[in-house]
Amino acid sequence: MEAYQRLLEHNIKPSMQRIAIMKYLMTHSTHPSADVIYTELSPTMPTLSKTTVYNTLKLFAEQGAALMLTIDDKNVNFDGDTSLHAHFLCKSCGRIYDLPVPEASKSVEMYEVEGHRILEVHNYYKGICKECFEKRNID
Ligand SMILES: [Zn+2]
Ligand SMILES: [Zn+2]
Repeated sequence: MEAYQRLLEHNIKPSMQRIAIMKYLMTHSTHPSADVIYTELSPTMPTLSKTTVYNTLKLFAEQGAALMLTIDDKNVNFDGDTSLHAHFLCKSCGRIYDLPVPEASKSVEMYEVEGHRILEVHNYYKGICKECFEKRNID
């Protein structure tokens, strides 16, 4: 799906900057923070500001065009993949990985639990990633 199209589908007016930020999100599955996106895009978009990037990402999340992750307490991260999936944060290298969600929480989304309506489910896992774990065993 095109970035432009994705913005329209979520009732977001597609400005040049918004398209560029959405395109970045859709082509980088690294769960970037606003700072990372700003650093990547600012050389080609001199009028871009950090605040604009952050506000744009927040707007995407509010409109359901992206996910806002609060798994890392030092950073807010964003995800262009809005399908239901879990996240794993490596405490050693800080990378965020996508993981499949357990069946139990799949059935919970969009349902009621004890009278409460569930609209979002955040599955956050933290630990040591496979790569870091293997490195440790070699040392
Ligand atoms: Zn790691
Ligand atoms: Zn993700």
